[in-house]
Amino acid sequence: MRYDLHTHSTCSDGTTTPTELAEEALAVGLAGFSLTDHDTTSGWAEARVAASTFGLDFLPGMELTTTHEYRSVHLLAYGFDDGDAALQGRLVMLRDARRERAHEMVRRLRADFTADWNTLLESDTASLGRPHLADVLVQGGFFRDRSHAFEEALSPRGPYYVPTETLSTREAIGLVRAAGGVPVLAHPAAERMRSPFDLTLLAPLAEAGLAGVETAHPENRPEWITPIHAEAQRLGLLTTGASDYHGTGKPNRLGECTSSAEIVAAIRAESHTKR
Ligand code: AMP
Ligand code: FE
Ligand code: FE
Ligand code: ZN
Repeated sequence: MRYDLHTHSTCSDGTTTPTELAEEALAVGLAGFSLTDHDTTSGWAEARVAASTFGLDFLPGMELTTTHEYRSVHLLAYGFDDGDAALQGRLVMLRDARRERAHEMVRRLRADFTADWNTLLESDTASLGRPHLADVLVQGGFFRDRSHAFEEALSPRGPYYVPTETLSTREAIGLVRAAGGVPVLAHPAAERMRSPFDLTLLAPLAEAGLAGVETAHPENRPEWITPIHAEAQRLGLLTTGASDYHGTGKPNRLGECTSSAEIVAAIRAESHTKR
């Protein structure tokens, strides 16, 4: 009875539809999954129907774009009321900011990469991100795959990068809790961040309402996650495992890191949705 609690679909920067994702979850033997697209809940309805078709358990989720103490922090949110007006209002802001930022990055990229940028900018993808820009660069023949495009053109150190507007992590935790949801710190020891999440910041975030930490994630560096895991346990936080599957957009395989049914039950016990 294993669950993958961190996955992306074509509603953000994954390459499989919510239905295809559910089909793949069944194929790899999962009991259930959460769909956690960036800054949008637009895949929930389809994922819920598909999960029920395939006899899988579905936990609604999302991955919020936030910043804490000058560090980019991804915050997973589970089991919240997607009709909550305060939260949805901030999600609209985040997605509008992503679109504006994509336009600005494209303006810079056009100078060096002649490719079909308009189709992307005119598309109705709910939540636009750098992976979509990477796809255009790959289609244009400039790079092998998304990872290569990130390394060579889309990294924050590169000349084309433009930051996108974020929520503060504290505000996001408060919004998720107020909407009845359960906030979990995503991939705090991911290699690509160049340093682990500062574990002395965990206690104040737990005080602010943080419920858990994603301690098992393919990109968490073992030597970085060990002390964070110990601190999360000391604070009585939930510890989750998940793959961060993006379809063919990233090497992460669906179900390569998972959570137990007990963890899912504990998340559900903390969720208080009004609808
Ligand atoms: P953004 O939120 O638009 O700045 O883009 C960040 C997203 O890019 C995250 O969801 C990552 O999963 C994805 N990403 C970061 N690095 C890579 C990489 N090397 N290859 C593929 N996707 C990546
Ligand atoms: Fe992503
Ligand atoms: Fe993330
Ligand atoms: Zn993710």
